[in-house]
Amino acid sequence: MIIHLRKGIIISSSVSILKNPIEYLKGVGPLKGDILKKEAGIFTFNDLLFYFPFRHIDRTQITPVSKINPQTEYVQLKGKITSLEILGERSGRRLVASLYDGTGELELVWFQGINWIQKSLNVGSSYIVFGKAGFFMNTPQITHPEMELLSEANKEAKDFLEPVYPATEKLKAKGLGGRQIGNLTARLLQLLSEKDVPENLPADLLSKFRLVKRFEALKNIHFPAAKADYENAVKRLKFEELFISQLRMGLLRFKRNTYSKGHIFSKVGNLFNDFYTNNLPFELTGAQKRVLKEIRKDVGNGKQMNRLLQGDVGSGKTIVALMAMLIAADNGYQSCFMAPTEILARQHFEGLKSLLENLPIRIGILTGSSTARGKKEILKATLQGEITILVGTHALIEDAVQFKNLGLAIVDEQHRFGVAQRAKLWDKNELNPHILVMTATPIPRTLALTAYGDLDYSVMDEMPPGRIPIQTVHRMQYARPQVMNFIKSEIERGRQVYIIYPLIEESAKLDFEDLMRGYEEVKAYFPEPKYYISMVHGKQKAAQKQTNMNRFVKGDTQIMVSTTVIEVGVNVPNASVMIIESAEKFGLPQLHQLRGRVGRGSEKSYCILSTKVKLSEEAKQRLKIMCETNDGFKIAEKDLEIRGPGDIEGTRQSGLLNFKLANIVEDRKILEAARLAAEKIISEDPSLSLNENQCLKSFLESEKGKTAWSKIS
Ligand code: ADP
Ligand code: MG
Repeated sequence: MIIHLRKGIIISSSVSILKNPIEYLKGVGPLKGDILKKEAGIFTFNDLLFYFPFRHIDRTQITPVSKINPQTEYVQLKGKITSLEILGERSGRRLVASLYDGTGELELVWFQGINWIQKSLNVGSSYIVFGKAGFFMNTPQITHPEMELLSEANKEAKDFLEPVYPATEKLKAKGLGGRQIGNLTARLLQLLSEKDVPENLPADLLSKFRLVKRFEALKNIHFPAAKADYENAVKRLKFEELFISQLRMGLLRFKRNTYSKGHIFSKVGNLFNDFYTNNLPFELTGAQKRVLKEIRKDVGNGKQMNRLLQGDVGSGKTIVALMAMLIAADNGYQSCFMAPTEILARQHFEGLKSLLENLPIRIGILTGSSTARGKKEILKATLQGEITILVGTHALIEDAVQFKNLGLAIVDEQHRFGVAQRAKLWDKNELNPHILVMTATPIPRTLALTAYGDLDYSVMDEMPPGRIPIQTVHRMQYARPQVMNFIKSEIERGRQVYIIYPLIEESAKLDFEDLMRGYEEVKAYFPEPKYYISMVHGKQKAAQKQTNMNRFVKGDTQIMVSTTVIEVGVNVPNASVMIIESAEKFGLPQLHQLRGRVGRGSEKSYCILSTKVKLSEEAKQRLKIMCETNDGFKIAEKDLEIRGPGDIEGTRQSGLLNFKLANIVEDRKILEAARLAAEKIISEDPSLSLNENQCLKSFLESEKGKTAWSKIS
């Protein structure tokens, strides 16, 4: 059946009422509808239903006046009005009433609508009063309270928890404050019945985890009768949120592992073997060998590989990537290796080239600053298959880059890339290439499984042997002379030094001035021609950055003054000291990343965290952790504890961990339960064809297309 709602708009009655545009809700209309869309992202009835209150005001309690103290917020009182009069002149004019409840006296004050309110209230009558308590000259007071005459029918407290909704100033100005949104939601809920909000979780999950039904939860998250109802609603909806996301990703992974077709790299050939016997400069660590085995298994089984490789800074991911690319080459396939910055791409290119010395294999580089001519030549050679390994920045994902036979795409330091960018990379061939995504920002296992649940997952949890742990200390800025002397002694021993300055967007100008001042200061301590300094920062042209960087890499300069542009990937084993200026401004993962630039050679390395004297508790905690451990995974755990997941590097921009209700730190237990439950269903009924899973199936189908990021693989 088709219903004509308004001219030109047809809505089929079989479509859920929840899909209705918000303006069709009584009391909304086109004008308010527009504001709701713009300001609150509420486009449909469904969006309103899922616009949750952030808290509730307890209106089940009557508070005695004597119990009101400066910490009290919203209160509900019951008392008699003992006096009522208008005081003051002009802008000071106000209506003041005294309320007495047997335990104490409180003032009620109105500045607006004075005459009308005065008429509606009676001295000697009793009222239920509600509002935000404050104090004026030691007397408790409520301005503009809600008043309700106490009658026979209405003797008790208002028996409910009142939802409080987020509302912007613009919403409020258009009559869509928190209370009005609550009214609209109440109206919407009246229109709905269980069939509009069908259960989407199988019955045995509901009973196993004691979850309330979906419709009940959605009613109670807005208008609970008691606190426990609210808590049950939240628990249910959090579980649902986490479970559905885990199920979705798990199903994706299952489908890919079952149905996807991938290039088959069946053999290990001459290139790999020659490299292994003649070029590999060291023995592989156990972790490197294990990961290589996992990769070999993936690329040989006829399915497309989609693997996330997590390894702490310095654990030696590059060589693993290279050897995987050699396997591809041995089987006649090209590879590409994508790095997040120009500097890093170039360094990978140089590094790989020297590792591949004497091997019959051509490696090319393509970045944003490649010349037009160079680029043209590289593109041609790539298309004709003359280039076997193409290194580059995200210039690689441009449409112009076409391969003859791309078999493997490796993304280094993946947290730097948006998901869309990644997805584009593997659109380059008829058959998708194998994908290896490498990240050096360790994230705790639960989080990795949540965020990247559709990828297979390898960890390199072992450092190459012979590394001497980096010694990390915290120094106040006034200790600079000692720090400088220390640097001097290290340079005299032939070492090199990084000095890092923060460059944070919000305070970019100030930070830049700091950097320049710092540079001058360092120069004064370390004058030419005895010492040479490189400086690298984001305002420089790529070519200049590159020149300055190269001078440091080659050892022509002893000191590198830079902002965090060198954060990821650069490898100068002779650099053994890093000073991080204003270290309190950095987050833990970033500090860890930066520190990972030293401790790469055979010399003992140092990291000096320099800060001002006055620090926040949180900053102190961060610095302490850095001084205590070098273990990236431990640091990631601590970081999660301190900050919560909101900011986990790389997940923020991708939105992978942004749940509406659930907080994956606080709700870890629910998350783990949800994940296991999802895994169980996938292993037992991956096509969701069992009767009890029909609710899930139809829910997932109705939600199709909502999660663009699921295209991660
Ligand atoms: P990351 O995992 O941070 O990308 P790299 O791949 O840059 O680390 O490796 C860090 C350093 O460790 C490099 O200088 C590399 O040559 C060296 N390295 C890697 N694997 C080993 C190993 N098995 N034994 C000794 N040194 C290694
Ligand atoms: Mg690296």
